[in-house]
Amino acid sequence: MPSDITVWTRFWIGEREVAVVSAAPAREGTISSLGKRCGKIETPGPGEKLFLVSSRRGIDPSLLDRCSTVLLCGDRVALIRTDQASADLLAGEGMEIKAVRPPPKVAISPVRRSSSAGGPVRRSSSAGRPLRPSPFQPGKESFNLSRDALIQEIIDRVTPPDVYDMIGNLSGENSVTIGGAPYTIQTRNSYRTIPIEKATQYGYEYFQGQGLSATYNDYTEDGYSCRNVVAAQAGTVNPGNIYIICAHLDDMPNAAIAPGADDNASGSTAVLLAASILSRYAFENTIRYVLFTGEEQGLVGSYYYVQGCAGSEDNILGALNFDMISYDADGDGRVEVYCGAMPSSGVLGDLLLNTISTYSLTLWPLKFTTGSEGWSDHSSFWDAGYPAILGIEDNGDDFNPYYHSLNDKRVHCNIAYATNYVKAAVGTTARLAVPISSITPKPTLTPGPTPTPTPPPSLVFEARPESLTPGERFTLGLTFQGSILRPFDFYVVADTPYGVYTVFLNGGLAQGVTPLYRGTPALQGPKSATIFNYVAIPALRSGIYTFYAAAVEAGKVPPVSTLAELSPSTPYIIAFDRAPISLH
Ligand SMILES: [Zn+2]
Repeated sequence: MPSDITVWTRFWIGEREVAVVSAAPAREGTISSLGKRCGKIETPGPGEKLFLVSSRRGIDPSLLDRCSTVLLCGDRVALIRTDQASADLLAGEGMEIKAVRPPPKVAISPVRRSSSAGGPVRRSSSAGRPLRPSPFQPGKESFNLSRDALIQEIIDRVTPPDVYDMIGNLSGENSVTIGGAPYTIQTRNSYRTIPIEKATQYGYEYFQGQGLSATYNDYTEDGYSCRNVVAAQAGTVNPGNIYIICAHLDDMPNAAIAPGADDNASGSTAVLLAASILSRYAFENTIRYVLFTGEEQGLVGSYYYVQGCAGSEDNILGALNFDMISYDADGDGRVEVYCGAMPSSGVLGDLLLNTISTYSLTLWPLKFTTGSEGWSDHSSFWDAGYPAILGIEDNGDDFNPYYHSLNDKRVHCNIAYATNYVKAAVGTTARLAVPISSITPKPTLTPGPTPTPTPPPSLVFEARPESLTPGERFTLGLTFQGSILRPFDFYVVADTPYGVYTVFLNGGLAQGVTPLYRGTPALQGPKSATIFNYVAIPALRSGIYTFYAAAVEAGKVPPVSTLAELSPSTPYIIAFDRAPISLH
């Protein structure tokens, strides 16, 4: 693209890449001569903007026609011209929106700014900004791809209870402390002035509590003011090299109650826990932790943040954006990584995939280059020429049905999946920043009580009597000790001379292995229960019948071919016991 033609954004309609560009009228002929199909867009009128809108269910052209001027329309993506209120209406209908505008301008300054500071320093404008040279060449990664003990230690610090609690703190499940007073974050919608102020303050104070310097990055858009939250951890060797881990904190719907647990308390949890864990280490490069707002209004917060970064010549070598990383109902562990067409972004995606495989995280990652996933804050980085990726959950068949609704609650999150995703996010950030030393003492604000160690959960499963004749009644009793602070499935199955049977609460049996309860969110112990008092064993033949009770990570069937292989060390087993009965 000639340098006097400014690319506003690029997106895909199917396999076709589309660019929105601007140039002086004299260059119109040049654009047409690029050999591409090209059309001229009218300048948006007063109060109007260009928006890209997308819908997973497919575009409804009549809906768009009612509230906008449609400039270009594909099956799932359209470019429209309308005002913010109409765009918000489309967002309320479940569409994702992105405001399209000129990319940030770079400051021409004789002295390069120090880049270790927390955020964009000031905006200025002069010449158009060229694409930055990419830090990595494809296939020539400069980072360490082998397993590293320090990275492993960092990854191991991400735990299910921490992920569970932080999603709860952000989505109104827990009361939190903000400004020294208790507060429950009921909504994080950017139009809800007080709650979003509290939510951003929570992020700010959390960062500060980790000993990081935090700043607010204020912006004003279409009559409302909001702010991003930025924390910085200066690199000790190359402070000018900046890597960003980011997520949008704001949510939908625009209502007094909007939990937004998956979208996007989950991604924000990755950023906050990254700050908590990585702040205990020293790194060669600078890490920035960023929580955006205004994402649901068209990627507004990230637009202003990136504009500020470009204006202050921040040397951003990569941004990892996480948006919706906790929903996995089918338990396949699918992770989608959107890299766009820029090779330097692809290298970031490759590193995320490599982290998942090198550190044996039970996730199934897929990398995308082309496609229309410009629908989150990473695309603000793309538009400015910075390498960036989006990490998201299954965006297809297993898409979160509670998306943008009052029901986007923690109970629907798969905490085991989210924990692995956060491990991948934190591990990848650490590898980019290159840790050079182990734990630095963590600042303690107030000495808390020494936590009592939590014993691992256990099940005691009993059969009475242990020996009986066919038709005789017997009891299966279950006592549970401990806590399981994440979703789990509960199984009771019987290994019989006739095969494997699932045992139901009414005493019935069905062939095969099916969970008795599916996706139970959490369990605080101790609990005890008698499951049922009679089982109709489907035969009169003698033999040993072994009953198994197991709590298993939600959505994970233990990878065993026979139940006899089940043991507490079987992957995905949280708690387990067995009880044999012999039939004479
Ligand atoms: Zn989102």
